[in-house]
Amino acid sequence: MAKTVLVTGASSGIGKATAIYLAQNGYNVYGAARRTERIQALKTFGVKPITLDVSKDESISAAIEQVLKEAGSIDVLINNAGSGSYGALEDVPITEARNQLEVNLFGAARLIQLALPKMRENRYGKIINLSSVGGKVGLPMGVWYHASKFAIEGLSDSLRNEVRQFGIDVIVIEPGGTKSEMTTIGSEALQRTSGDTVYKGLANGIKKMYTDMEKRAVEPIVIARLIKKGIEAKHPKTRYIGGAMAKPMLYLRKILSDKMFDKILMSQMK
Ligand code: NDP
Repeated sequence: MAKTVLVTGASSGIGKATAIYLAQNGYNVYGAARRTERIQALKTFGVKPITLDVSKDESISAAIEQVLKEAGSIDVLINNAGSGSYGALEDVPITEARNQLEVNLFGAARLIQLALPKMRENRYGKIINLSSVGGKVGLPMGVWYHASKFAIEGLSDSLRNEVRQFGIDVIVIEPGGTKSEMTTIGSEALQRTSGDTVYKGLANGIKKMYTDMEKRAVEPIVIARLIKKGIEAKHPKTRYIGGAMAKPMLYLRKILSDKMFDKILMSQMK
């Protein structure tokens, strides 16, 4: 029988590509996001749409309930929904910081909580958490985005060893530059928040770095294929890395001291 997958953030970018790709490969896919008209359009690809706001508890409970009622289980949960909060820590209102963690961290955690009982009962489950190269590398002007992604890395490491005993795998995906709406929206937010403050020099530097990265960004299908590989591996890796600059960045982060890495990083912003 086809495995049931719930993909959050399926209205664009990586989530949309993943939902379509898995449906084309025989999975029973539910694609969730806030923009209803966009996810309704996924029906033509065989993806079942669910309206979901991962920052709202009632919305999360309703989505999980609907999938469990219709499909009987959630075999694969792909926590992909995410947004990018940009701007210097001093400039970003703390309400926005909280919202960033609601979407990128607590939303995923709540979905996991509600999906786990059935996964445990079935002694089968794949929890795929979308982190980022930014879950290992903290760039200036993205403090809350990076804090949320570092947190999802830690959460995933802890969770992996809690649920392995029930036959459930926890897999982290660490994309580098990937074509999506995120970078465009992020650049605008950065400009709005810190484009005219004492941090405007750094904001311009980061914008330059993102613009360079966008030129090399891969298509979202590259990450979708990586996710499928993780789902189907008999003994999945704990982390899958893909997308522009991901492997070299993570390698340098691993081998260099903090200060040496900072030096190289900041030289890219000039
Ligand atoms: P997009 O901006 O294209 O897609 C983000 C998705 O998340 C949209 O479908 C959006 O749907 C959804 N989303 C945002 N907020 C909420 C919310 N409150 N509730 C439900 N859904 C929400 O970005 P990407 O495809 O690039 O991002 C996907 C994931 O990949 C993210 O976790 C991101 O951090 C990660 N990533 C992306 C990289 C890249 O270069 N693109 C690099 C590294 C990691 P809607 O607005 O309709 O709700």
